[in-house]
Amino acid sequence: MSEPTKHRNIEELLVADINTLTVDEMTRRQSVVTLMKAERELEVVNEQNRRFQDDKETRQRQVSSNLENIRKQDEENARVQKMCRHKTGGKDRQGFFMGDGDVYGFAVSKQILPTGEIYGLCFRCQKEWHNPIWTGGKRKVVNGEMTLAQYVQQEREYKEMLSWTCKTFEGQQGELPGGHMFLIPNLQRQQQKDQADFEVYLKTLNPTEIAMSGYQLSA
Ligand SMILES: [Zn+2]
Repeated sequence: MSEPTKHRNIEELLVADINTLTVDEMTRRQSVVTLMKAERELEVVNEQNRRFQDDKETRQRQVSSNLENIRKQDEENARVQKMCRHKTGGKDRQGFFMGDGDVYGFAVSKQILPTGEIYGLCFRCQKEWHNPIWTGGKRKVVNGEMTLAQYVQQEREYKEMLSWTCKTFEGQQGELPGGHMFLIPNLQRQQQKDQADFEVYLKTLNPTEIAMSGYQLSA
């Protein structure tokens, strides 16, 4: 008669010679091994999840830090552009945005783009002046993304810029720097359509509204 084997605990089961195990013990040992394997796999998965989460947080931090930097830069640009007089001259660092323009006038370069658009760029604060025709202004007014008064204001600032003397950037005859021109049919068609829709839009306004915006109806 074989001696009744005493009940083995898990450690004993795992180290025991397989030939000494009963069928029941083998089944138990098999279950323990399977369970331990499952636990190791779970640890691996948890570790992967943790790393994925860390990476995700790092990425999110980078994105929000980039956005924050862009926002700060935009704020700084806006601050400087408000302060800048867009003129040449001025003394020292503090005077950089406080030019007097006595000798060369404005520090603004008038550029002609290949589309035929002329725009202004301040070389001190990087402010740009665009005719609203070229920045989709009429379409924006029709779509309600810009008020007629804002349109008039942009156009007014643009025209004022055009009248400035900018000797530093002008050729000898005062001609503007620019490259070859291209006629872009799609762009022209778009502008004609914007113009037509803009005129239809103006007809929906009453004369007081138009007068309030400062818009000059062409005769
Ligand atoms: Zn400026």
